[in-house]
Amino acid sequence: MNKFQALGLNDAILQAVADMGFTEPSDVQEQAIPVLLKDDTDIVALAQTGTGKTAAFGFPLIQKIDANSKTTQGLILSPTRELCLQITKEIQAYSKHVRGVNAVAVYGGANIQEQARQIKRGAQIIVATPGRMMDMMRRKMVDISQINYCILDEADEMLNMGFYEDITTILADTPEHKNTWLFSATMPKEVARIAKKFMKSPIEITVGTKNTGAANVSHEYYLVNARDRYQALKRLADANPEIFSVVFCRTKRDTQKVAEQLIEDGYNAGAIHGDLSQNQRDLVMKSFRNRQIQMLVATDVAARGIDVDDITHVVNYQLPDEPEIYTHRSGRTGRAGKTGISIVIVSKSEVRKIKQIEKIINKKFTQKDIPTGMEICEVQLMHLANDIKDTKINHEIDPYLYSINEVLEGLSREEIVKKVFSVEFTRFFNYYKKTKDLNTEVAAQIKEASGDSTRYFINVGAKDNFDWMSLKDFLKELTGLGDGIYRVDCKDSFSFFNTDTEHKDTVLALFQDFKLQGRDIHVEITNDTRGGGGGGGKKHKGRGKGRKDGSSGRNKDKSFSKKRGEGNNRSERRGSNDSGGKAPFSGKRRRRERN
Ligand code: AMP
Repeated sequence: MNKFQALGLNDAILQAVADMGFTEPSDVQEQAIPVLLKDDTDIVALAQTGTGKTAAFGFPLIQKIDANSKTTQGLILSPTRELCLQITKEIQAYSKHVRGVNAVAVYGGANIQEQARQIKRGAQIIVATPGRMMDMMRRKMVDISQINYCILDEADEMLNMGFYEDITTILADTPEHKNTWLFSATMPKEVARIAKKFMKSPIEITVGTKNTGAANVSHEYYLVNARDRYQALKRLADANPEIFSVVFCRTKRDTQKVAEQLIEDGYNAGAIHGDLSQNQRDLVMKSFRNRQIQMLVATDVAARGIDVDDITHVVNYQLPDEPEIYTHRSGRTGRAGKTGISIVIVSKSEVRKIKQIEKIINKKFTQKDIPTGMEICEVQLMHLANDIKDTKINHEIDPYLYSINEVLEGLSREEIVKKVFSVEFTRFFNYYKKTKDLNTEVAAQIKEASGDSTRYFINVGAKDNFDWMSLKDFLKELTGLGDGIYRVDCKDSFSFFNTDTEHKDTVLALFQDFKLQGRDIHVEITNDTRGGGGGGGKKHKGRGKGRKDGSSGRNKDKSFSKKRGEGNNRSERRGSNDSGGKAPFSGKRRRRERN
């Protein structure tokens, strides 16, 4: 007897289990299925998405309904259209070998008459979003007065989305004798309230500890200056060339903006949020599923229906307002037995939120450093090597081999390898060699805030043929402080730099009556802790016009529907500025072109 058989499932379902290739029941299945099959009971199950909860209620539901009757016997309420469709698909797959079972999806944004027709044909199971369900009830297109089972899936999310009234109205139309099965990732007060009000002594099942994030997800945070958030995101993507991720933003506007910026910088990105039409959302989801999109930037609501199992990283570009929502976000990865990483990019002022989340998920975060330019170069170089190794040879090249060999004659294998790699590496290296270490930036700001670090103004800049690296070298040599000189920001006619406060007197003394090529050089302490986002700080106004390095220079009129790849020329023109330029490699696209 296999383990699914032991749960009490019948042959038709066991056949579907075998078809789906499930070998072992998941935790929630093991706990819920025998109880639901044996007893007519209410149940509250705390389980994340990705734990196999759809089958945990789907299998018993299918087994318990009367497939010979066309009456609606089971109602599943789910928060979003995407999830509603996903559940329907799963139920259809699980009931493949049970004759006569019909599960119909009912959701907004699609033709209501058509949905009503499908129900009329006989739907023992209806999977619905609360809003559309209410609509159909008002129009008498559904009859749920005979149902035996009502399943509230992702109850916490439905309540988050403001469906409390709808749910209570719908439940009021169902018979008293029915059983209610409530599934939720978390147990906020509102969910407990629903359970108390509508359920009769429910059996409680918890997968893992209450409110715990999925076991195979690790949690990392990266501390950066708020203005470096986007650069941090790009570096994390560059350091993970195989990234397949959902990037969460708080608002629709930010979601759209970050996606546009990523696309412009040459990444395979897309946005999903409520301002897109259903058709646009479907297209984006299709591209994500087939991996044309590696970074899907999403709002919390729009991401609820993402039914993709292999997400490697969840990126919290901004933390959610409610720490509980973090559990939902991180639950997008580490699904179906895979491991996943949930990343949070935080600024100083948000670090305390990490502590709150740790309490909720009952897990510790690891603080990590944003990869440096050289670390990224190394990762990308090895990725390129593997990519070359795995590339299928295109024999269309064969006729040209002779000519190619002629061109390359006289070069050793080593030279050819070096040259091939240099084509990509040089571009990448040139991009990153001028970028700053984002970790030093934020560490310095923290030090500044505590008075342990001092920021100086100096009246030389790009006009004096300095860039931040040459100025840093100059200051390092002059002061003898080596890496004690940091956060060098080179503007047009002036610059900023930092040292630890203990060196303050030495630095100031050194620049007393200091001349460089006959010119008086002034150094003074500044309160401008930014010294990089735009022009100079207030204190130095008028000394020179700051170059607007911090502004992205993006084309504001750019339409989101721009074809991928168009960003290339633009970014190359823009050059290697960390505030803008395209990622020199953006893995997948080029590989697809090669294959
Ligand atoms: P869910 O939590 O219901 O969204 O399920 C997440 C994914 O796990 C879906 O793709 C299911 O098809 C899959 N799944 C469900 N049960 C099992 C199982 N026992 N073994 C392997 N995969 C499963």
